[in-house]
Amino acid sequence: MTAKRNEQQATKNNCDPENRKLVELPPLGMDQASISDDFRRYFAHTLGRDDHCTSSHYPYKALAFAMRDRLIERWKNTRRVYEDTDCRRTFYLSLEFLMGRALSNTMLNLGVEDEVSAAIYDLGLRLEDIRESEPDAGLGNGGLGRLAACFLDSCATLQLPVRGYGLRYEYGMFRQHISNGQQVEDPDHWLRDGNPWELERPEYFQRVQFGGRTEHHTDANGHVRVSWVDTHDVLAVPCDIPIPGFRNGTVNTLRLWKSAATDEFDLEEFNAGGYTEAVAAKNSAENITMVLYPNDASENGKELRLRQQYFLASASIKDVMREWRESHEDFSSFAEKNCFQLNDTHPSISVAELMRQLMDEHGMLWDEAWTIVSSTMAYTNHTLLPEALERWPVRLFDQLVPRLLEIIYEINARFLTQVAQHWPGDTDRLRRMSIIEEGHEPMVRMAYLALVGSFSVNGVAALHTQLLKEGLFLDFYEMWPERFNNKTNGVTPRRWLAACNPGLRDLIDVTIGNGWISHLPNLEQLAEKAESRTFRRLWRNIKQENKARLAKMVKADCDVEFNTEAMFDVQVKRIHEYKRQLLNILHVIHLYNRIKAGDTENWTNRCVLIGGKAAPGYQVAKLIIKLASSVARVVNSDPDVGDRLKLAFLPNYRVSAMEVIAPAADLSEQISTAGKEASGTGNMKFMMNGAVTIGTLDGANIEILEEVGIDNFFLFGLTTVDVEAKRRHYDPNAIIDRDPAFLKVMKLLESSYFNQFELGLFDTIIESIRSPYDPWMTAADFRSYIDAQEQAALAYQDQDEWVRMSIINTAKSGHFSTDRTMEEYNRDIWRLEPVTAPPVAPA
Ligand SMILES: *Cc1c(COP(=O)(O)O)cnc(C)c1O
Repeated sequence: MTAKRNEQQATKNNCDPENRKLVELPPLGMDQASISDDFRRYFAHTLGRDDHCTSSHYPYKALAFAMRDRLIERWKNTRRVYEDTDCRRTFYLSLEFLMGRALSNTMLNLGVEDEVSAAIYDLGLRLEDIRESEPDAGLGNGGLGRLAACFLDSCATLQLPVRGYGLRYEYGMFRQHISNGQQVEDPDHWLRDGNPWELERPEYFQRVQFGGRTEHHTDANGHVRVSWVDTHDVLAVPCDIPIPGFRNGTVNTLRLWKSAATDEFDLEEFNAGGYTEAVAAKNSAENITMVLYPNDASENGKELRLRQQYFLASASIKDVMREWRESHEDFSSFAEKNCFQLNDTHPSISVAELMRQLMDEHGMLWDEAWTIVSSTMAYTNHTLLPEALERWPVRLFDQLVPRLLEIIYEINARFLTQVAQHWPGDTDRLRRMSIIEEGHEPMVRMAYLALVGSFSVNGVAALHTQLLKEGLFLDFYEMWPERFNNKTNGVTPRRWLAACNPGLRDLIDVTIGNGWISHLPNLEQLAEKAESRTFRRLWRNIKQENKARLAKMVKADCDVEFNTEAMFDVQVKRIHEYKRQLLNILHVIHLYNRIKAGDTENWTNRCVLIGGKAAPGYQVAKLIIKLASSVARVVNSDPDVGDRLKLAFLPNYRVSAMEVIAPAADLSEQISTAGKEASGTGNMKFMMNGAVTIGTLDGANIEILEEVGIDNFFLFGLTTVDVEAKRRHYDPNAIIDRDPAFLKVMKLLESSYFNQFELGLFDTIIESIRSPYDPWMTAADFRSYIDAQEQAALAYQDQDEWVRMSIINTAKSGHFSTDRTMEEYNRDIWRLEPVTAPPVAPA
């Protein structure tokens, strides 16, 4: 029905569409009674449950709905003020958002924790059970996806007009269980029971093209125009997730696309009697957002992955364009008002897609379009590992998105002309810098596409950015030094201290007030309290309670007893050779040898926790999990060991597990080979919760060390420079033979002590340690790691001193808030003005 007819119809029925009162509602109460009323109404009416319902799922849903209503009020205000002020905006494009649970964070940020707790308690329910019924939104692999989630929280808290764009995977990161010591992957159907936090917005669907071919013709002005025709289109339907700021009335948006089939059946198939085939084709369209690729820090190369990347880029840019056109005549101020931040190379096809839309859909010529693209795109690199750099076969590009390949060729041709002008005659440089890698199978280098198309390129820690400039991107740095900048990562102190560590939060609040939650450098005021005996006692008591909470989880999930008097020594992160979980396990074997040899004078009892997922196709990582489980079984069941040493492999490491783990850790293991970990953010969560780091000079560990000082950090290992120098004459077997403790560890491993019924099982691991070509140089750092561990163990015996270190770590963690990170992105890249949303007055 047209608008006109709608209007006529409305007039006929005696109502006035110009004067609708549909959304003029009184503000919702934020008090206990209002929340309790809404909760019960959702529980009894919307969900249709009664007092016989014993599951916590329905109370969770009812509470989520009650919270979402309050978010939506603020969400609308925020959206309206962004529209009305026509403010400059940033769009954060990421294939991953590792959000975790939303309930606690929403209660905290809305400032209704006490009201909700009281309401739930008075209804005879346990808030803890309700919280535990929420599934994690696991739409990411690890650090990169969690960073995106922390960024959104900080942008909303700083009232920056930033919108996240991602994919709504039907299946998130797989769930991991351990069977016979090995990882088994289970599908994570997190949407099975619905997602009360999302709001579907079918009215804003977009159409994304795939396949087909291009047609070139000349327009009336003699300009070559291109049509992309005979495509197989897929619909993108937005599902919006509210992102509340910390008690400031702002609610930003995370827009996640789900794929859907266009309703037109393939007519040819249909007429040929291929009805079922035509219906089945719907499936392949809906497959695009079915599953998250579970590879962390390594490329995958599957066609479906490239489809996902283009689907995100195309739908998101079209969505931005749609909104732009609603309130602007033309694109003259588009670059001034919009910025796209690319989270790694995954969405970097956006560079070509924005060109395509500006030219083919909005009639622009190349130069005008390129000026806009190259002043709106900004790129963040997340890794130095060559195996993680995305390259796509030109052949695949041509099949899947032929128009984009043409544009990339043109970008490359113009770019290489610039290179040739800059370095005349340097053909080797042209070959090195080309976006197209020539060879038997020509490839598109996605990082180079991002570098050429962006006005800003950043690394994620000081060392990482420096190494990018000196190594991986040296040619590009020489060409455009002004584009490069560093933005050290952070974590949000709302989730990673205030919400996950309520005991510590209360102590900090009564000591320095609660301003630290949005001004984390305030924590510095705790440093002087490290000298107070009373304060140290309170601090230690909280850590002990948190350790008891973790011990319960370890008992339930691993059936291992952790004594809270022991040192909790924790390494949780994706399993990867560069992160060197293996070095940690070698240390455990060394401690076991000492116990068996009676070398236990001045012993510090230790509970070692390792957790993390291995990419399903990464065989060595899976073998490392098997080794950890095997060593754990031996150590934990040997009566000679007792409480001196425990090892547990915690299954299914995820955001909600980290919320229990970080507050309980004494020692944080950050032991990657120097130069390999871009930043790390697990290191920051641990530090913030008062764990002391044992770590190498890698990623943000360096900046953590700078903040806390060498007395509050257990430093070991080769530096980046040492690592590269040593590679050329690396002789691990000589290192092992010279170190009796190391030799003993290797002998025990090699005797099949941990794999008595599976001989040869760990041979590849043993060979990698002994190989002169071991890229991770595990043997090189063994001795200094063991010595640093011994220092940590001795330090732990002086609890007064240890607690002092713990307090200093929290006190100096102010730099690692994503509020700081976002302020730096905004100052140097986005240049947004904060926009205050009008308050929702409580009823
Ligand atoms: C913080 C976090 C990570 C990143 O950990 P790193 O130690 O920096 O690799 C990965 N996964 C989850 C669930 C996290 O919370």
